[in-house]
Amino acid sequence: MTDKTLFEKIIDREIPANIVYEDDICIAIEDINPQAPIHILLIPKKLIKKLSDCSNDDKEILSHLFLTVGKITSNLNISDTFRININNGEGAGQEVFHLHIHILAGRKFNWPPG
Ligand code: AMP
Repeated sequence: MTDKTLFEKIIDREIPANIVYEDDICIAIEDINPQAPIHILLIPKKLIKKLSDCSNDDKEILSHLFLTVGKITSNLNISDTFRININNGEGAGQEVFHLHIHILAGRKFNWPPG
């Protein structure tokens, strides 16, 4: 048996988090170290370590996640301006190896990102 990821522990309510959305396929929580006034992490309940590990089998999960971004940003009244980000791999800043989409809003974002 492998150790659970941080996000699996949150999904299983073993670690507390501020949950802003949940359904059968995914959960969304407030980031503990927000990089913007609104910083949500949207996480599939299935353990996929990183985006590049996804296969055709994950098509429905991926489309569900992106449609859920729309639902969450609409619920939070930030549909007009937000940024989503996925860090894939250590070199891209990924720290938790359980796929998640960062949803950031509430400030101006620069391009290119650092
Ligand atoms: P990443 O660097 O893309 O893997 O993102 C991991 C994110 O998880 C970071 O933005 C962290 O601030 C966030 N994080 C770490 N621990 C927790 C926690 N216990 N609850 C909520 N967010 C967390």
